Amino acid sequence: MIRKVLIANRGEIALRILRACRELGIQTVAVYSEPDEQSLHVHLADEAICIGPGPSAESYLRTDRIISAAEIANVDAIHPGYGFLSENADFAEQCETCNIHFIGPKAATIRQMGDKALARETVSKANVPIIPGSDGPIENESEAMKTAKKIGFPVIIKAVAGGGGRGMRIAHNAMAFAKEYETASMEAEKAFGNGSMYIEKYLENPRHIEFQILADNYGKIIHLGERDCSVQRRHQKVIEEAPSPYLDAKLRKRMGDVAIKAAVAANYVNAGTIEFLLDQNDDFYFIEMNTRIQVEHGVTEEATGIDLIKEQIEIANGKRLLYDQKKIVLERHAVECRICAEDPANDFAPSPGKIGLYYPPGGHGVRVDSHVYGGYVISPYYDSMISKVIAHGRTRKIALDRMYRALSEYLIRGVKTNVGFAKAIVVDPAFRQGEASTGYIEEFLKRTPKNLFSKDKHLIK
Ligand code: ADP
Repeated sequence: MIRKVLIANRGEIALRILRACRELGIQTVAVYSEPDEQSLHVHLADEAICIGPGPSAESYLRTDRIISAAEIANVDAIHPGYGFLSENADFAEQCETCNIHFIGPKAATIRQMGDKALARETVSKANVPIIPGSDGPIENESEAMKTAKKIGFPVIIKAVAGGGGRGMRIAHNAMAFAKEYETASMEAEKAFGNGSMYIEKYLENPRHIEFQILADNYGKIIHLGERDCSVQRRHQKVIEEAPSPYLDAKLRKRMGDVAIKAAVAANYVNAGTIEFLLDQNDDFYFIEMNTRIQVEHGVTEEATGIDLIKEQIEIANGKRLLYDQKKIVLERHAVECRICAEDPANDFAPSPGKIGLYYPPGGHGVRVDSHVYGGYVISPYYDSMISKVIAHGRTRKIALDRMYRALSEYLIRGVKTNVGFAKAIVVDPAFRQGEASTGYIEEFLKRTPKNLFSKDKHLIK
């Protein structure tokens, strides 16, 4: 029985997990780095333990300190959130060894699906379509070149251990390939401690469609429909929505069935996400599985009415999934904008610092997941996300109009933000018509004057 949970994370996701625990009557233990002492999750948790200085490598990534904190506080479970240790199989294993529930899948599953080349191999054995590419990791540059020529340019070179849009390079021809391959491998070695690479055919302007999976310990696996995360900058998601404005019921069923097949192949338990790229011919291909809760999980929650964090905890607690696939419907449309401390007029340079006046939006159909407040200092040690604004409604139009209204209310002084940039997208006709593919932002940036993003002036449609 889970009575007490240690939250091995910070920021909005730490708060999100804390809230779910509270509603379930579960005690919470926050861990924090020195600069995070004034964070909301630290104030609100039943207990809080400092685990080291600011740099993540000295605090949030220190498995020894986190396990010690868990033992001192005598918790039954650890929720890793996203990022940090959430996809660290060794950490999940250490939890298992110490008799602490790791709220997520088994360590072996994290290991198998965290290696992107092995994940491709695992799902393709179950007849899940994968993008044409190398069979497993590439041994050396000459083998890489041979494979790239066989697949045909353009190709994308990816880090086996990659994530968060990092460790990827596109090569349009053989000459560019040699250079990109070397740089990509060096970058991956530095960022992930693993320079191992694989290659895929580069698809031109696909959509990014992902399926939310829930699986209990008794073999029941369902999906909660899709999220369309095509609005990306440098392969990182900026706006996500559920359902996708493109999918019809038939394609949703086809993709959902394949997503389940992939989760079954991974022997999956708990919440996870199967990511696909969908091309112009409605062919779709698995790109990876995220074996954790995702940043954008809130849009699925608002569209379905299901609390994913509570489900994660209940599954770890040994409860059976109560939902049947047939009963799952995306009843509402939900859209999320990731609001960051960054300057869109200056190539999105991070803008850390102290927030002055702060007034988040609210009202009917608006949810703001955030850990910040007036006077909060955005630390340069961590990512620059301030909040996730989620607007929902019966239709996509209602959700988008509501999002525009919410963003217009949002007051954040003291740091630069992408609120104006998000507003400009929300009223852009191409986005409104549901046409965005993964190339959308690049094209949008080319045709939109920069002062529109910083001055926060937009005409409503
Ligand atoms: P990460 O784990 O770093 O998020 P993913 O493999 O999930 O990396 O890919 C992130 C994004 O990169 C995708 O949503 C897509 O925009 C782009 N991408 C990845 N693979 C391909 C590909 N083969 N062709 C075109 N775009 C790709």
